[in-house]
Amino acid sequence: MTALSRRSVLAGSTAAAGALSLAPCFIEAFFASAAAQAVGFNKYKVGSLEVCGIADGVSTFPLPDRFVVNQAKEEVVKALKAAGQDGEKLSVPYNPFVFANGNRVVLIDTGMGPAANAQNPAIGNTAKNLAAAGYDPAKITDVVISHFHGDHINGLLNGANPIYPNAQVWVPAPEWKYWTDEGELSRAPDARKGAFANVKRIFTDGLKNKVTQYEHGKEVVPGLTSVATLGHTPGHTSFILASGNDKLFIQSDVTNVPFLFVNNPGWHAVYDQDAKQAEETRRKTYDMVSAEKLRVQGFHFPFPSLGRIEKAGDGYRLIAA
Ligand SMILES: [Zn+2]
Repeated sequence: MTALSRRSVLAGSTAAAGALSLAPCFIEAFFASAAAQAVGFNKYKVGSLEVCGIADGVSTFPLPDRFVVNQAKEEVVKALKAAGQDGEKLSVPYNPFVFANGNRVVLIDTGMGPAANAQNPAIGNTAKNLAAAGYDPAKITDVVISHFHGDHINGLLNGANPIYPNAQVWVPAPEWKYWTDEGELSRAPDARKGAFANVKRIFTDGLKNKVTQYEHGKEVVPGLTSVATLGHTPGHTSFILASGNDKLFIQSDVTNVPFLFVNNPGWHAVYDQDAKQAEETRRKTYDMVSAEKLRVQGFHFPFPSLGRIEKAGDGYRLIAA
């Protein structure tokens, strides 16, 4: 199958996937994921809106000893093998999202950025794949940030220059408050001080603080409402995109890779700043999206990073679209 025809198949795959039983769905998702990753974008509809998952890329690295801080490494290896992986390496995808609504073209999160891309061409491809999908970076009107970890904000700048020069940049007010507070910086563990410096590099030095803060529970741009999903970071944000009767839940980092943390919501990723709060958020969020049968777009889900969450035992599972 050519890349183009795979893309056409993908465009129509969402509705069909729901009708398939689990095993074929898994197999289909595997091939869909590989094809979409090659193409780099996945267009679909939410109500009347054109939306598109964008592949920034995938980092693959040796499984760290403490990636899941409250589990022995052997348990993590077992879960990776159960997901069909070798158990020695971990692959973490990064997937921003874009949608158009009237005269607004809105990007949510920005990926690893050009400096990371120069080191590793497998990541930092958001601007390139946006262009491939037909979204000119100069015509992005709004960039909405979910939280201030580097994989979500580093793609705002190329060196000192904004990659989306005409976009208004929206940031969660509680996230801004935390990461720009000198007192929080002085109290932070050394391992987190680099993230504070990165926030200063991007927002203070790069964008000269030209951002607009948004509050949780409010419509940020037409159709997109922010949802407080705290724990991963102090101001971590998910979103509901609504059009007509249709809704999409954009979860950001409620979980990192699904084969570890959707299946095991009690597992605490090393990146979750308040692990207990992050777990409560995860369970509450997934109870809601599974009950409402919402489609979920996940920043760290394997591309096309879209699916539904179902309850499974004490945890959940991702049914990939
Ligand atoms: Zn992330």
